[in-house]
Amino acid sequence: MATVKLENICKIYDGGVKAVDNVNIDIEDKEFVVLVGPSGCGKSTTLRMIAGLEDISSGTLTIDGKVVNDVPPKDRDIAMVFQNYALYPHMTVYDNMAFGLKIRKFDKAEIDKRVREAAKILDIEQLLERKPKALSGGQRQRVAVGRAIVRQPKVFLFDEPLSNLDAKLRVQMRAEISGLHHRLQATMIYVTHDQVEALTMADKIVVMKLGVIQQIGGPLELYNNPDNKFVAGFIGSPPMNFITVTVKENGGRILVDEGTFTLYVTDQQAAFLKPYVGRQVTFGIRPEDVEFTHTPEAGRTIDGHVSVVEPLGAETHVYVATSNARVIGKIDGTVIPNVDERISLIPNMDKAKFFDIETELAIRGNVPNKAPAANAKKVEE
Ligand code: ADP
Repeated sequence: MATVKLENICKIYDGGVKAVDNVNIDIEDKEFVVLVGPSGCGKSTTLRMIAGLEDISSGTLTIDGKVVNDVPPKDRDIAMVFQNYALYPHMTVYDNMAFGLKIRKFDKAEIDKRVREAAKILDIEQLLERKPKALSGGQRQRVAVGRAIVRQPKVFLFDEPLSNLDAKLRVQMRAEISGLHHRLQATMIYVTHDQVEALTMADKIVVMKLGVIQQIGGPLELYNNPDNKFVAGFIGSPPMNFITVTVKENGGRILVDEGTFTLYVTDQQAAFLKPYVGRQVTFGIRPEDVEFTHTPEAGRTIDGHVSVVEPLGAETHVYVATSNARVIGKIDGTVIPNVDERISLIPNMDKAKFFDIETELAIRGNVPNKAPAANAKKVEE
């Protein structure tokens, strides 16, 4: 059993930087939780506070029901894997993996058993006598993970462990860490700036911005129901298109007007957009939620001309410049439109999102809208 609970956790660095602002996260036993957000959003600081490598300015950190704010790192029963691997260069792989157990005075036979077991799991048995400099980046990463596994900790912490690997190896290690989680059935907390890693690995994603949690949820929950414009734009690639539009009513139907094209919204959307008639909102549509046509249709298509075409084999990304915006569409890979050609995109309006221009919160009627702290303050003002 290993649950981790962060309650009202804040971190203010010397000099007054508020790196982490009132963070609340409940991590369940065996859960794989990913903290994700752009550089500087406070995710590493949060992880380092869980590890005990950074003091907690205020709030309560609980591991397995026990408050550990003042418990030294070595007594927290956690193991951390760092971005730079942090291997001892003068030690063999075997000794690197054994080191943490030796200093904790485990007997030799137990150390040997654990090191060999971990090496087997990670497929590095043949490397045990090598020094780190004789290993590839991917192999070093495995050793760093192995060093954590032998400890059999309650909680594994990963700080951007794949950032130093090339793209292909990153994809492979991503799957390996997911597999490891499944096999070890351990609680894991993983920090990354890469939303693809978050979507593919996490049971639960915590999206952060400027030290504040924006939303917590499962990968599909965040993808399908982002609470605000930041989460909508951060999760998904290429990112969601955002277009400023004015909400209008025409013969009892609600539509949004960009200036050069209009789109009728669904009945459900009409219900929650009605209070916005006459006002501007942000219309959001993901690149994968459009189709293309050469026949513009008022109320149904986004019209413009092709400015950039990116053929990727399985799909083509087409950048469409309207009079006021640029919209990316993900279309069939066999279709390669010409630059400057007139084109229209048909958004799947069932998938469209709308955001308040001021608060950037999602406008979505009866779906509960949990305002993140920073935005909540803004609403109250
Ligand atoms: P992330 O991991 O999301 O990139 P960090 O947790 O490293 O973000 O940093 C969050 C904020 O705290 C940033 O503004 C960063 O500059 C600041 N920060 C990080 N470490 C320190 C430190 N030791 N002293 C002062 N400010 C720091």
